[in-house]
Amino acid sequence: MATDPVCKMKVDPAKAAAKVEYAGQTYYFCSDACHKAFSAEPRQYAGGVPDSGSHHHDHK
Ligand SMILES: [Zn+2]
Repeated sequence: MATDPVCKMKVDPAKAAAKVEYAGQTYYFCSDACHKAFSAEPRQYAGGVPDSGSHHHDHK
């Protein structure tokens, strides 16, 4: 399960409304609105810390 970086919703990659590759990562979106928001300001979403209180784990 992926996380929509805009609204932080869990998104099933198979059912994602949109996906974007940015800075070597693939992001999935619950809706086209979130996709557009990300496209407008990718750094705001991709560069931010998604969750406070947990360290980054890069697992596939
Ligand atoms: Zn969303």
